[in-house]
Amino acid sequence: MYNQIAKAMREIPEDVGRALNYLEGMAANDKSLYYKEFRATVGRLLNLFWCDGLYREDYKLFGDVVAFDATYNKNKYRCPFVVFTGVNHHNQTIVFAACIVTDETDETYIWVLQQFLEAMDGRVPSSVITDGARAMKNAIEKVFPGTHHRLCAWHLLRNATTNMCSPRFTSKFRDCMLGDYEIPVFRNKWHILVEEFGVEEKEWLNEIYEKRRSWATCYIRGKFFAGFRTTSRCEGLHSLIGKYTKPHYDLSEFIEHFQRMLGHMRFREFYAEYESARGVPVMQTCIEPLEMCAADTYTREVFFLFRPILVRSGAMRVVDYQTRDNSIIYYVCRYAKPTKVWEVEWVDNGNAITCSCMRMESFGIPCEHIISVLVRRDVREIPKCLVLHRWTKKAKESMSESSSFTSELQVSNRLCILNECARMMSEVACATTERFHEARDLMLDLYSSYKALDEGNTPSKPRLGGGTNPKGHSGRKKPQRCSNCKKPGHNKTSCSKRNENAFSTQGSSTRQTDVSRQK
Ligand SMILES: [Zn+2]
Ligand SMILES: [Zn+2]
Repeated sequence: MYNQIAKAMREIPEDVGRALNYLEGMAANDKSLYYKEFRATVGRLLNLFWCDGLYREDYKLFGDVVAFDATYNKNKYRCPFVVFTGVNHHNQTIVFAACIVTDETDETYIWVLQQFLEAMDGRVPSSVITDGARAMKNAIEKVFPGTHHRLCAWHLLRNATTNMCSPRFTSKFRDCMLGDYEIPVFRNKWHILVEEFGVEEKEWLNEIYEKRRSWATCYIRGKFFAGFRTTSRCEGLHSLIGKYTKPHYDLSEFIEHFQRMLGHMRFREFYAEYESARGVPVMQTCIEPLEMCAADTYTREVFFLFRPILVRSGAMRVVDYQTRDNSIIYYVCRYAKPTKVWEVEWVDNGNAITCSCMRMESFGIPCEHIISVLVRRDVREIPKCLVLHRWTKKAKESMSESSSFTSELQVSNRLCILNECARMMSEVACATTERFHEARDLMLDLYSSYKALDEGNTPSKPRLGGGTNPKGHSGRKKPQRCSNCKKPGHNKTSCSKRNENAFSTQGSSTRQTDVSRQK
């Protein structure tokens, strides 16, 4: 199969040329775009790796866990397509880098990982998740020697389904893998599973058991995986790639549509950012100060993941404690289940807090056992040591300050976002004539007022008439201003301040009129 691919790649120099041209064009707009091709002989492309500037920035913030995944049959040469993904502060999948390869040998994957390392200024992820392909594993051991390597839960479940052909087996296998058990319990459950289905001789199953240290919860507990254990994540990415790319695409078409998909993903992040900054969710638990603190600190998506933990902490009881030199150990049990005990260690006056369940280390949000200790100590804010910066609303604050996040990149990112906003707006606004007229007028009014401001600011044309309506542009419509709030871009009926005035008291609305008159 790979020979066929290599042959196809050799026969298509003009397509390779177009693909490289496309990347060169991207590089012209994005100075920090990284791309690299690898050719065995002249004209014969073997691998093509690229990653754009915004994702290189994202990697600095969210590169702690990287999934490394190959998909097939996404282009007309049937070349494997490798994507490096991560998770942002809204718990959304983001793409760090992508690569088209013609084979899946150790050498190829070593080259791919070396490009990744080069693009990311040598920063190695602390965890890598793969589908378990041997060549990937070998390459990871060679290029990322200290990195923890784990297998993707979704791929394992999918392979279990195809190899064992039993939905009941898959669901029990899933329980063994994702259930929060201790090692002896896991082993016991596994033996029961193997016996029940009479599959002691199944080669696939034995191989998987050999690799249990890279997939069973009891072995990987305490290793951070940034929300990667949700099995729907991998599936979601695969279906998104499938939606944006078609099997008949050549290389340049494939890259172009894949980049469109990245634009869509960026818009999703922008939208989550917008939702996250808007309002405060209604408090639902009885430990309101902690819930409020979480709502302020975490992004909305992460807050919604955290709230059920606050609820569960209500069923936790601190049954005993022990004071040591520099710390206090609290023994925590679930209400009405006294047999299982968790140990929460409160070190150095709360500067470090750990729990024997290690969920803080795995997920980056505190567990219900720690919360029950906070409640017992009447702590009303989530201690700093329990807040992981990458899950907070401020996670991306440092990015806009960094020098490599150039203004060109910001502009192209904004363009992407506004395009998507306009598309969404157009879809709903075209439904009726009334909406169409309103939306069209709003957009054109705003456009002409910006345009006029820009032209008014150029030194060759002196600012006249307040800079909004330069003379000599007699054909230009005067930018409409709202008669209610005096701002451009909308009219009295669509004014956001309208309701404020309508519902405010007589006195305050009079005061407002006075202020505007003074100006
Ligand atoms: Zn715990
Ligand atoms: Zn207004």
